[in-house]
Amino acid sequence: LQLTLAIIKPDVVAHPHRLKEVKQLILNNNFYFVRSQERRLQRKIVEQFYAEHKGRFFFNRLVGFMSSGPISVHILAREDAIAKWREAMGPTKTFRAKHEVPDSIRARFGLTDTRNATHGSDSAETARKEMTFFFPDFDID
Ligand code: ATP
Ligand code: MG
Repeated sequence: LQLTLAIIKPDVVAHPHRLKEVKQLILNNNFYFVRSQERRLQRKIVEQFYAEHKGRFFFNRLVGFMSSGPISVHILAREDAIAKWREAMGPTKTFRAKHEVPDSIRARFGLTDTRNATHGSDSAETARKEMTFFFPDFDID
């Protein structure tokens, strides 16, 4: 089994029914929840998490959004978890997702390009970094 880090973003967590639906979808896609936490991040923590995007035109919006309310963070396990989770999420841009992959999570729950419902690690190396970022006590090996 492979592990990945998934974040359900504030736009979904703000709506308990949508949060429940996304969690059920995760289970329906054959992922196991390995670790979970719900927390609200301060701006400077979000800036650290998204450091690679510093300087991009959407950075301020992204940081504002991700610190605007509680997020639901999970370590997920399944075979080929990183790719399968990104596939389940669909394209980054909500409007592209709605157009191209209408049954994806971002198509169904995303609101805008910034408020796009979920996050998923994009490689084994980022997965490891992101899992340690949110679950420092989790023993990956
Ligand atoms: P994530 O890292 O959240 O899984 P991703 O890897 O598909 O998404 P990134 O390019 O890493 O996309 O962008 C990180 C986040 O920044 C996106 O999920 C989205 O919330 C925001 N973002 C990315 N591109 C744009 C954009 N063009 N306009 C507005 N927000 C954007
Ligand atoms: Mg990314």
